[in-house]
Amino acid sequence: MDLKSNHTAPVLTDPAPISKSRLGGYPNLLPYSHTGAFSELILNIPKKKTGILDDVRACSWLDAMKASSPPHRKMMKDSNNELAPIDSDAAYRAWMLQYPSALTSFEQIINSAKGKRIALFLDYDGTLSPIVDNPDSAFMSDAMRDAVEKVAKYFPTAIISGRSRDKVYEFIGLKELYYAGSHGMDIMSPVRQSVLDDHQNDIRSTDKEDKEVNLFQSAREFLPMIDEVLKSLVENTKDIKGVKVENNKFVAAVHYRNVDEKYWQTVAQRVHDTMKLYPRLRLTHGRKVLEVRPVINWDKGKAVMFLLESLGLSNCNDVLPIYVGDDRTDEDAFKVLREGNCGYGILVSAVPKESKAFFSLRDTSEVMEFLKYIVTWKQSSAL
Ligand SMILES: [Mg+2]
Repeated sequence: MDLKSNHTAPVLTDPAPISKSRLGGYPNLLPYSHTGAFSELILNIPKKKTGILDDVRACSWLDAMKASSPPHRKMMKDSNNELAPIDSDAAYRAWMLQYPSALTSFEQIINSAKGKRIALFLDYDGTLSPIVDNPDSAFMSDAMRDAVEKVAKYFPTAIISGRSRDKVYEFIGLKELYYAGSHGMDIMSPVRQSVLDDHQNDIRSTDKEDKEVNLFQSAREFLPMIDEVLKSLVENTKDIKGVKVENNKFVAAVHYRNVDEKYWQTVAQRVHDTMKLYPRLRLTHGRKVLEVRPVINWDKGKAVMFLLESLGLSNCNDVLPIYVGDDRTDEDAFKVLREGNCGYGILVSAVPKESKAFFSLRDTSEVMEFLKYIVTWKQSSAL
């Protein structure tokens, strides 16, 4: 992907292609209207011309698909070009000057935490579990689970994943954590009183232990639409070998990790064609996955702020939030922390990437190391 010298690269979030007949002056024909009190979450959808531009847009998606799926370091080393590993090592070292390792910078991080309470936010795929061919098999290791469990004993710890909340809970299975699924559009948090109470998206529920919890689902009204588009995506991509459409509750994910690259254009075109009927959905690019999600002003960054508030941790003078993630969607959270001058984003990446994070970790094993460092530091400082 392009490396730029500044820190202004936005997260790639393509607006949904717009069908003129659906939007051009006939708003009442939209299948799902947003009349709720939280309608300020809904983004304004720019009108676009259709026709030949559709094809151009589908092609640009292909470019984005390639850009958002950088090769793993191992693949680079396996290439026939013997200079590649040396070049890539040099590039990585140069990149780390800008994004120092959170392990070697641990003292700096801890110094910032003096007199504050650390709050940890962790992505799941590619952060706690390795990226694997089959998304249903993205299991975390027992050692990682143990590290997360220990860290959660000392610090409020939340998982913020693009997966459905139920699925990511199944993978992790730790009751001590807070969980936000669907890129933060489905948050389970402790019961609290706040300005958002009594809102239609903010409901009381019970967790698996029958304990009363708060469920905040910013895109609740989109559920029927996501179910509908999921079925269409399954139908429209069923003849492309290797495609997997995953139901992530408020997000429909089209994985193309196992699709031959020569058919990626076909995947882009089919998803694009399907989305033409849903102007209130938009596309985001993850690692070898296209994600179809509601056009609402909500992302992992807003989920972090919401959770901090819910947990009574929104005062930056007392709290140091740390967010660890590997994907483009995590950039929203990095950005919130950087711009709020409150806490640190840590990007997990084995290749140089432009980011809003402050620090880096190379892979999931370094994430585990980092979690252990924090626990050891906490235990020794309590002596
Ligand atoms: Mg991830």
